[in-house]
Amino acid sequence: MSDISKDLALFNELVEVLLHEEKHNPVAERIEANKLYDSIDLSLNDAPLIDEDFKSILKEVIISTPKTATNLFFNQLFGGRQSKAVLGDLLAVVLNNSMYTYKVAGPQVGIEQEIIRQSCDLVGYGEHSNGTFPTGGSMSNYMALVMARDAKDPDCRTDGMTKPLVIYTSKESHYSTAKNASFAGIGRNNIRFIACDSEGRMIPGQLEAQIKVDISKGFIPTYVNATAGTTVLGAFDPIDEIADITKRYKIWLHIDGAYNGGVIFSKKYKHLLKGMERSESFSYNAHKMLGTPLTCSILLVNDKKQLHDSFSNEADYLYQTDGDDFNLGKTSFQCGRRNDALKFWTLWKSIGTEGLEQLIDHQFELADVARAYIRNNPDYTFYSFDDSISVCFNYKNIDPKALCTALYENQITVVGFGSFNGDTFVRFVTINANNSKKDILNFFEVLEGFVEKTPSLPKEIEVLVS
Ligand SMILES: *Cc1c(COP(=O)(O)O)cnc(C)c1O
Repeated sequence: MSDISKDLALFNELVEVLLHEEKHNPVAERIEANKLYDSIDLSLNDAPLIDEDFKSILKEVIISTPKTATNLFFNQLFGGRQSKAVLGDLLAVVLNNSMYTYKVAGPQVGIEQEIIRQSCDLVGYGEHSNGTFPTGGSMSNYMALVMARDAKDPDCRTDGMTKPLVIYTSKESHYSTAKNASFAGIGRNNIRFIACDSEGRMIPGQLEAQIKVDISKGFIPTYVNATAGTTVLGAFDPIDEIADITKRYKIWLHIDGAYNGGVIFSKKYKHLLKGMERSESFSYNAHKMLGTPLTCSILLVNDKKQLHDSFSNEADYLYQTDGDDFNLGKTSFQCGRRNDALKFWTLWKSIGTEGLEQLIDHQFELADVARAYIRNNPDYTFYSFDDSISVCFNYKNIDPKALCTALYENQITVVGFGSFNGDTFVRFVTINANNSKKDILNFFEVLEGFVEKTPSLPKEIEVLVS
């Protein structure tokens, strides 16, 4: 047997261990961070390891690694496992292409382009649209910001920043916009954080008022980031009204759909993005709502020239054959680039666009189940809103931070907390489309059972007083 065949046999054996663990210990036994290096031998040594020891250390690592695909993992904005996507990712690893040229990626180029083309159609972009696969949602937002900057001030690419550019995003938007402003030379102080309404959506009137103030002071409004699914509440900014403003003032509109941009696949929920075709760029993470392994991010642009203008560079040692449309390195941030497209393509190809739509709709159905449960139970206080897969609540007035930490430390279930308008609450996300309604109700049962057995949990009111 060749080395790779032997290792793949070992891989299959190890995956069986993982699946067994997921079933019987859906929340992995936690190793306390300060005891990590004493609990498990992670050291790298001069001497090689014999096969049996190698296998047993791998098993140990698998067993103690947090399980993100189980029905008790609700922590952040990914979870579950679409097996057809896993298959595609495993193939991508073994094939090991780099996506920069047709010469080394061949049909993988067409696979990436097909996803981009179909996604652009769903957004409603025209024939000049295209896109790329950045390393994540933060990077997608960064690339959009760089394009916006270059579109407003093309000389910036050669001379550096010489003009007072300012950008806009809502107070509830993802923190990457702040970092990106710093990386792009715009500066964190030149971001205007626009207020949100009572449901966490950017207020267009406030946006326009701020733009007018900035223009009167000599600033140059350059970029508006609208969010399709804010990180905490899962709120959708009113794209159509924001687009009215960005068109009026000739400002780049980017839609950050990292979390919930996947609704482009749903006839039922697409209305939440009404007006999206009027944006300059749009991004979504297939590793969030679409259950594809991390990371799988797609950035779309209405006019592919913008992507080219900001990201292409001549390189004779790299681009030696085929046209620009096939040499994807001409529009990517990196040089060598992992194949993130294949895993999404294998999923999409096997279940069809209709299957993707079902994945999306199912997550909203699960959220409806959770909301109905909370609303019908007086022990819960509800903090979030309909048309979202983030369900925010507190239970029996228990301090949500203490509750989430205790649930994690006792290996009960993994869930996080968030804040909005001064309230802090448990944020439960129904993003794992493998879950059934029963799994959602089971979560509440598990949580209530734990609280019952743990009278020491602090109440929120006590925390405030202390
Ligand atoms: C997750 C998220 C991001 C960041 O995406 P990464 O892939 O984690 O970098 C950006 N914006 C929103 C709204 C998100 O939810």
